[in-house]
Parts: sequence; C-alpha cells; structure tokens
Amino acid sequence: MKKLIILGSTGSIGTQSLEVAKKEGYEIVALAAGSNIKLLEQQAREFKPKFVAVGNTALAEELKIKLNDTNIKVLSGSNGICEVARLSADVVINAIVGIAGLRPTLAAIEAKNTIALANKETLVTGGELVNKALKENNVKLLPVDSEHSAIFQSLQGVPSGSVSKILLTASGGPFYGKKKAELVNVTRAEALKHPNWSMGAKITIDSATLMNKGLEVIEAVHLFHVKPDDIEVLVHRQSILHSAVELSDGAVIAQLGTPDMKLPIQYAITYPERAGLCGERLSLTDIGTLTFEKPDYETFRCLPLCIDAIKQGGLKPVAANGANEAAVKLFLEDKIKFLQIAELVEMAISAQKKVDTFTVEDVFEADRAARALVIENK
Ligand code: NDP
Repeated sequence: MKKLIILGSTGSIGTQSLEVAKKEGYEIVALAAGSNIKLLEQQAREFKPKFVAVGNTALAEELKIKLNDTNIKVLSGSNGICEVARLSADVVINAIVGIAGLRPTLAAIEAKNTIALANKETLVTGGELVNKALKENNVKLLPVDSEHSAIFQSLQGVPSGSVSKILLTASGGPFYGKKKAELVNVTRAEALKHPNWSMGAKITIDSATLMNKGLEVIEAVHLFHVKPDDIEVLVHRQSILHSAVELSDGAVIAQLGTPDMKLPIQYAITYPERAGLCGERLSLTDIGTLTFEKPDYETFRCLPLCIDAIKQGGLKPVAANGANEAAVKLFLEDKIKFLQIAELVEMAISAQKKVDTFTVEDVFEADRAARALVIENK
C-alpha cells in the first residue's frame, strides 16, 4: 500500500488525487490546503491522515479546534506546508496553485520524497533550482500535467539523445478563433468556460489567454532538458492527443486518451506500473477527426511572451509568472480587462533585469516585484 502526501488537496487536482487514492486503497499521511478548511476537515475525517496543514494561519487555528476530537495534528502557514512535505511517504503530490508550491516542492526533494508535480509554477519559477536539488538528492519528479505526462509516457523506452522535437498540444481555450478586437470586453464568466477540461479558476483563465501553454513550454524545457526552439505548440481542439515526441528517425510517438486528469495523476503515483482506471474509454471512430493548427501568436500574446522569457532565461520567467498570477487575480475580481493580462505580463518581463544565477530568495523577490508592478499599472 502506497503512502501519499497531497498538497492542495481541496482543489481540482487534489480532490481527483484523493479519488485515485481511495480507489487504490492508498494510505494518506498528510493533506494540505490554502484556506478551504470546511473541505479539508471533511477530507481529514474521511482519510484520517496523521497531519494536515493550512496555509492561512488564522484558519489553521479554527481547524485545530474543529479536529479536537481526533489525533490529527494541524500545522499552519507556509512552514507548516513544507513540514508536511518533508514527512516520510512514497509520493508527495503537489497540487497547490501558483508559486506557493515552490518551497514545498523543494522541501519534499530535500527529504528525498518522490514528487508527482501538478504545480507547474514550481518549474516555471524555480526550474534550475529544482533540477539541481533533484540531482543532489537523487530524487524523482514525475509530471502530472496531462501534456507533460503524455510526453513522459511517450518517452518510455526511448534511448536518451534520440528526441528531436516535442509536440505540445493546446486546446485553444474558449476564445479559439477570436481576434483581439473581439476579446476587448470578454467577461470572467466567458473566460471560465473551458471547452474540454474542468479545472481550477486560475488555470482556466490561463487556458483562455494561452498563458497556460506558455507556462507549459517553460515546464517542458526544465522537465525534458530541451531548448524552447525544440518545442512545437499545436492547437488541437479535441484534447485527445495529449502531446507527442518526434524522434531522430522521424517517428512520432504520442499518448492519446479522453480528457481525464485521473490517468496522469494515477500514472505519476504508480509509475512505472499501470493500474486499472474506470471511466470513459477512447473511441477513435466516435471522435472521427483529429485536427492540428498553428497557434495565433498575435491574438494570444502570453504564449510568445513566455517563450521569449524562457529564451532570455534567468528570472524573466519568474516575472512572467508573478505578473500573470497577480493579473489573473485582478481579472477574476473584475478589476482589469482580459487583454490587460498579457500587457501586464509583457511589462513585468521587460522590467525584470537579466541575471545568470539566482537563489530561492531572488525568485521570491522577482515575484514580489512583478506583482507590485501589476498593482501599480492596473
Ligand atoms: P485549484 O484552484 O482547484 O486548487 C488549488 C489548491 O491549492 C487548493 O487546494 C488550494 O487550497 C491550494 N492553495 C492555494 N494557495 C495555497 C497556498 N498559499 N498554500 C497552500 N495551498 C494553497 O487548482 P487546480 O487543482 O486546478 O490546479 C493546481 C495546480 O495544478 C496548478 O498549478 C495548475 O496549473 C496545475 N494543473 C491543473 C490541472 C487541472 O486539471 N486542474 C491540469 C494540469 C495542471 P484552498 O482551496 O484551500 O484555497
């Protein structure tokens, strides 16, 4: 029986991870979330972890009182979340949203825990630091993001050095086919209507701006040690081919399936084994046609901005991510317009100084600066 720690257990990926854990009968060692203590309490009572951690310290105190009748220890704040990431487990699933996931990833690696990573912002902001820590601690990091899981699955059995290109697919989001002029007044509700996937609010907006694909290009650079120019983004409206690799002999290997995050979540836990999974099976004859197109880089500026940021390197991706997190929050509060997200991301990338080396503290400083710039220019 595997022992799991789930960070971000109250979110979209976190709750699906718990469904997988329940089906397979895995033991839950610890759970962590940001502020949804109502759901966290329910999860704690059902899965009986030894520890839970709450990012919001005041709410952690409330949860402590609520769980008084149990033996579950409640920890709080970012340090509490890092503490649970360091507990002994077979896999730590990091499903926190945003840069808040970076320190817990590093804490889990230092404790020599295998990571199943959904939190793409970890690699976008701290990819170099994470890769260094993985090497020093001889720890495995397995991707949960569906595209990166598809690439990882396609690479099984492929000799190293034989990949010539990564084909990263994108659904195109709810505003596929629209031009800038049609996006000026789009609403939060329209942007939250993803055609194929049901996800948390932040990643759904990132999918509408194609920032999500930009973040995924950066994530792929760090995960698979490829250059940005070796990644081709393809708009694939059906979200059936989850991504592919082209090998040196021209063979293209892909992973296909219905759009269901439980498969990549489960594979990251069971790797290299496979387990059964209920749910709809893919019928290619029902699908009939799979289409692939080039993205519209003019309309969806966040994608080329992220590619440019990772090409420039250093802390530029941190600035892009920090500005995006702050801008998406403002958009979700109806305080800025949809197209301002890309404008603010661009501004933050330009404002960030070029550096060659950096520490974790530098990452958080660059993130703070990008967020401050967004607030000043909103
Ligand atoms: P959700 O918004 O649904 O959930 C986010 C989780 O993070 C919640 O449990 C939330 O807790 C927790 N959280 C937020 N802030 C903090 C914090 N400061 N400290 C601790 N926990 C915090 O997001 P998703 O599940 O959609 O996404 C999670 C990650 O996975 C993101 O990085 C996303 O890009 C990635 N991903 C998601 C996919 C999906 O299908 N949803 C697909 C591929 C990748 P609370 O609810 O209590 O605030």
